[in-house]
Amino acid sequence: MSDSLVTVAYIAASALFILSLSGLSNQETARRGNLYGIIGMVIALVATAARPDMVGYGMLLGAIVPGAVIGAMLASRVAMTSMPELVAVLHSFVGAAAVLVGFGSYLGPEPKLSALELTIHEVEIFVGVFIGAITFTGSVVAFGKLRGTLSGKPLMLPARHLLNIGMLGGCVFLGWQFLDAGHGATAGASPAGLMPLLIMTAIASVIGVHLVAAIGGADMPVVVSMLNSYSGWAASAAGFMLSNDLLIITGALVGSSGAILSYIMCAAMNRSFISVILGGFGTDGGTPAAGGAKAPQGEVKATSAEETVEALREANSVVIIPGYGMAVAQAQHSLSEVVKILRSKGKNVRFAIHPVAGRLPGHMNVLLAEANVPYDIVLEMDEINDSFPDTDFSWVIGANDIVNPSALDDPSSPIAGMPVLECWKSARCVVMKRSMASGYAGVDNPLFYKPNTEMLFGDAKKVIDEILTKLRA
Ligand code: NDP
Repeated sequence: MSDSLVTVAYIAASALFILSLSGLSNQETARRGNLYGIIGMVIALVATAARPDMVGYGMLLGAIVPGAVIGAMLASRVAMTSMPELVAVLHSFVGAAAVLVGFGSYLGPEPKLSALELTIHEVEIFVGVFIGAITFTGSVVAFGKLRGTLSGKPLMLPARHLLNIGMLGGCVFLGWQFLDAGHGATAGASPAGLMPLLIMTAIASVIGVHLVAAIGGADMPVVVSMLNSYSGWAASAAGFMLSNDLLIITGALVGSSGAILSYIMCAAMNRSFISVILGGFGTDGGTPAAGGAKAPQGEVKATSAEETVEALREANSVVIIPGYGMAVAQAQHSLSEVVKILRSKGKNVRFAIHPVAGRLPGHMNVLLAEANVPYDIVLEMDEINDSFPDTDFSWVIGANDIVNPSALDDPSSPIAGMPVLECWKSARCVVMKRSMASGYAGVDNPLFYKPNTEMLFGDAKKVIDEILTKLRA
C-alpha cells in the first residue's frame, strides 16, 4: 500500500473513531458508535500492516492472532460485574506497551534526525515511558481494588504529598540526565541514558501505585476514568515515538474523553479533581466508616414481596433506582418484565440513574439496554431528582451509596456533598437488598431508618422473580 493510501486510510479511521465517540454518548446511537469503532480499528490495523515500511509479517501475526483470540475469549466470558476489572487490566496493557515501545525506540538504531529533532524524540521517549509506567502500575492496583484482592481503603502514608513531589522532582532530574546522555551507544555497550531511564521507570511505577492506593471508597469511579485518560496519553506518546499519526490521534481522543469523563464523575460527586487525586477518602467498603458520620437513628421496617406487589398495584407513579446489587443479581431481565406489566396497566414507571451507580460509568444503562428497557424511561439523576415529591413509590434495587441522605444532611459523613437520588421524598420507598450491610463507600445509610422506608431483604433476582409471578397471577 502506498504512503498516500495509508494516510487516507488513517484519516478515515480517525473520522470513524470520532463518530464512534459521538455515537457512544447516547444510548440510542451507542450500537452504531460501536460499529464505527470496530470498522475504524479494522481499517487502522490493515493500513498499518500494509505500510510500505512494514517488515516481519510472521512476528506481526504471531502477536495479533493470539492477542485477538485471548481478547475475544475474555470479553465474551466476562460477567458484567467484572467489567471494571477488565477495563483496568486493559488500561494496564496500554501503559506497559508505552513503556516497551519507549525502551524499544531508545535501544533501537539511532533515527536519522537533526540534533534538535533527536532531543525532541528523546523527550517523547522519556515522557512516554513515564506516563506508561504510571498507567501500568496504577491500573494494576485499581484492578486489585475493584476485584477486592487489595483493600479499598485509601493508603494514607505520612507526608504523602511531599513523597509524590519528591518522586516527581527525582524524575525531572533523571530526565535532564537522560537528555544529557544523548542517544548514541558506544559499540557493544548500552546507551548512557539507559540507567536514568530505568531508574525513572522504577520511580514512576511507584508513583502509579501510590497515586491509586491513596484513592479509595466512593472516589474509585474517578480512578477508572482517570486511568482511562492516562492510557490514552500513553498511547499518544507511543504514537509520537513511532511517528504514527493515527496512534497519536487515537490516543489523544481516548486521553481527552477520559479526562472529560473524570470531570463529569467529579461533578457528579461534587468533588474537585485535585481533591480526588490527593486521595484519602473512603473506607474498606462493606463495613461502616469508623467515626465521622453519625450512626443512623430509628427503626427498620421489613416488608415482603406480597406487600411490595400491593404497593406497586396501588401506585400510579413508580421510580426504580437500580444499583450495583442489581448487576450482581443479574435482575435486569426479570425487572424489565415487571416494568412491562406495570406500564401495560397505565402506570408511569421510570428509572433513575445515578452517574456513579454500579462499578463502571454507564453500568446501569448497559444492563437496562441489554434487558430491552425503553430508553425514554431511563432518566439521569438531574432529570428526575425533582420528581420524587410527586412519586408514589420509589423502588431501590441493590443500590446504597447513591441513595444515602447523609451525603446531603451530615457534613461529617465521608460522602458529604455528593448529590444523591432523593427517593425518601416520595410517598413510599422500598429498598431491596440482602442485609443491612453498607455499600462501596462503607458508610451507614439513614435511608433504611426513615419512617416511609421499608426493607425487602433477599437476592434481587429471586425477589423480583417472586414479584413477577405474583403480578402475573
Ligand atoms: P453500593 O455498592 O453502594 O451498594 C450496592 C448494594 O447492593 C450493597 O449495599 C449490597 O447490600 C447490595 N447487593 C449486593 N448484591 C446484591 C444482591 N444479589 N441482591 C440484592 N442486593 C445486593 O452500590 P451503588 O450502585 O449504590 O453505588 C455505587 C458505589 O460504587 C458508589 O460508592 C461509587 O462511588 C462506587 N464506584 C462506582 C464506580 C462507577 O464507575 N460507577 C466505579 C467504582 C466504584 P447487601 O450486601 O446487603 O445485599
